[in-house]
Amino acid sequence: MRKIRTAETRAVRRRWATLTTALVCAATTWAGAPAARALPAPAAAPVSVAGIAAPAVGPVSPALITTTAHPGNRIALTFDDGPSPQFTPQLLQVLKKHQVKAVFCVVGEQVEWQQAQVRAIVADGHTLCNHTYGHRDLTSVSSTEIEADIVRTNAQIRSAVPGVEIPYFRAPYGNWGQSPAVAANLGLRPLSWTLMPGDWELPGVDVLLQRLRDGITPTGVITLHDAGGDRQQTVDAVDRLITEYTAKGWSFDLPAR
Ligand SMILES: [Zn+2]
Repeated sequence: MRKIRTAETRAVRRRWATLTTALVCAATTWAGAPAARALPAPAAAPVSVAGIAAPAVGPVSPALITTTAHPGNRIALTFDDGPSPQFTPQLLQVLKKHQVKAVFCVVGEQVEWQQAQVRAIVADGHTLCNHTYGHRDLTSVSSTEIEADIVRTNAQIRSAVPGVEIPYFRAPYGNWGQSPAVAANLGLRPLSWTLMPGDWELPGVDVLLQRLRDGITPTGVITLHDAGGDRQQTVDAVDRLITEYTAKGWSFDLPAR
């Protein structure tokens, strides 16, 4: 975590379109697990945008999720910014080999041209998370705009996989702004994390694995990336991580709901 803060700060104001291989998803002020905050849900009911009906789900808690669904020596793996035509299939292969289920926080613009990968993620039994349409920093975005973005992204995902459940939402860079309450009102739980080891820095598989070992805690939620640059190190580190932690008696869980 200590190596992440500088990169995060630089990353915060960059537009998604200008991002190259690095500095994705990071939080502005990382200081351990974000505190769960109860935000008031907006009074307005989910609305339709551009004729797209909002999903028929009830409000859920706007508290940020930072734990696995079950207690004990468990961790949840989450992968942001995809799907990627190159690395998502590799990651799916690794997860299938180990019989581990994960969460994929997909970006609408990626989903547009990677529909087959979204279908593959769902076909393998993984869970989807809405990561906005264009990986926008939501710090100063209005609730109305956030709602439109979430609904549009859900619709894009469901154009690939009709009716698929999208139980989570994750704000890019961890800059939540108004989004936890908006997402919750639309039935999506805001999914945070306890460990983001900076795979975008391409530190090498050994270093990445050591950062994971150093930061993993029981019931932790880990954020890695399957797109946004060369993610071979991520794929290889995940393969070794699962082997190592399974041998130590740990198991892999989904995040809490
Ligand atoms: Zn991201």
